[in-house]
Amino acid sequence: MTPTAPPSEVDVGQILAEVARRRAAGIAVIPLHSGEPDFPTPEHIVEAGIGALREGDTHYTPPGGLGELRSAVVDDMAQHKGLDVDPRQVIVTPGAKLAIHVAMQALCGPDDEVVCLDPSYGAYAALGHLARATVQHVPTKIDDGFSIDLEELERALGPRSRLLVLNFPSNPTGHVLDDDEIEGIAQLCERHPRLLVLSDEIYGRLVYGGTTFRSPATHPSLADRTIVVDGVSKTYAMTGWRVGYAVLPPQLVEPAAQVALDMFLCVSGVAQRAAAAALRGPQDAVEAMLGRYAARRERIVDGVNAIEGLHAHEPDGAFYAWVDARALGMTSAELSVHLLANGDVATYPGTAFGGAGEGFVRLTFATSEENISLGLERIAEAVGDLRAVEA
Ligand code: PMP
Repeated sequence: MTPTAPPSEVDVGQILAEVARRRAAGIAVIPLHSGEPDFPTPEHIVEAGIGALREGDTHYTPPGGLGELRSAVVDDMAQHKGLDVDPRQVIVTPGAKLAIHVAMQALCGPDDEVVCLDPSYGAYAALGHLARATVQHVPTKIDDGFSIDLEELERALGPRSRLLVLNFPSNPTGHVLDDDEIEGIAQLCERHPRLLVLSDEIYGRLVYGGTTFRSPATHPSLADRTIVVDGVSKTYAMTGWRVGYAVLPPQLVEPAAQVALDMFLCVSGVAQRAAAAALRGPQDAVEAMLGRYAARRERIVDGVNAIEGLHAHEPDGAFYAWVDARALGMTSAELSVHLLANGDVATYPGTAFGGAGEGFVRLTFATSEENISLGLERIAEAVGDLRAVEA
C-alpha cells in the first residue's frame, strides 16, 4: 500500500498565527478550531484544587502519581470501561498527550514502526517521530463511515510494526469502534506478536445518539497488549490542569516509569487532587455538558449540510464535525485560510490530521451555541462568495 502524507503541522501553525494576528488587531475571530471545552471546570473540582493549595500540597509528588488519583483511575476504568486494572499499572502524566509520549518513548525506537489511522490526531505522528520510529498511515474513508479497513491495515503491518494507535471516539471524525472492528483488530494482532495497541480514549465518555463506547482492551486477547490512554481534559473541561494517565501492560510499567521520571518527574499535586475529585465526585456536570454537546452537534451538522458544497459527517462521539468540502475544489489549507480571511472563522484544515484529510476541514462544537450559529452564517457567506466568483 502507499503510505499517505503525514499530518501537516504547518497548516495549524499558519492558522494559529493568523488567529493571533487578527485578535491582536481587535478582530473578533469565531473559534471553531481548537479542541477544548468552552465550559468552566465544575465548581467542586476547582474547590478540591483550592483545598489542596491551602493544605500546602505545593511540593513534589510521588513519581507515577498520587495513590489517591491512581486508585480513582482504577475505579473509573472498572466503572466506565469494564477494565480490571492494578494501580501499579497506572502512570499519571501532565496531560494525555504526555501519556502517549511516555508510552512511545518507552516502547519504540529507530527499528520500530508506529501505525496510525488517517485522518487522526496529529500528535501521534509527531510523537512517533520524536521516538525516532517510522510512522505509517492507514487511510479510512468517509464512504465507509471511517471504519477501519482491516485488510488495508494488515497490508500496512510488517515485522517492524510495534504500535497500532487507535483513538475512538475519533478526533477528527467522531467514529466509534464497533464489536466487529475490535474482533478484527484482535485477530490481526494475534498474527503480529510484536504489535501492541495504544488506545487513546480521551473522548470515551462523549458519545451521542445511543452510541456505546467499548474499549478495545475489553477484548480478552487485547487486554494484555493494550496501553489505555485517558485523562480529565475533555470530560471534565480541565485542559489547563494538565492531568492525563496511561494504563500500561505489566512489561511496560518499569520502562515507562523511568521515561516519566527522566522527563517530568511528577505532576502537580494540586492538579492531581482536582483530577481525583473529578473522577470520584458527582458526575452531573458531565451529563449536563454532554447534553449541550449533543444539541450543538445537531445544530452544526444540520447547519453545515444546509450549505451548498459542504457535507458534515455525523459524529458518534467527541466534539468535532468533519466536513467534506471536496466539492469546492480547493485544498483544505486554502479553504481554512479563506474562511478566516473572509469570514473571521477559525477552522483546522483536514490535512492537519493526515493526507486523507485533504479537501476536509474540522469544526469544533466545544464552543458556545452563539459561536456555532454565527460561525455557520459566516461560513455560508464565505462559501457563497466562492461560488459567486466561480459563476
Ligand atoms: N488525544 C486526543 C485524541 C486529543 O484530541 C487530545 C487533545 N486535543 C489529546 C489526546 C491531548 O489531551 P491532553 O490535553 O490531556 O494532553
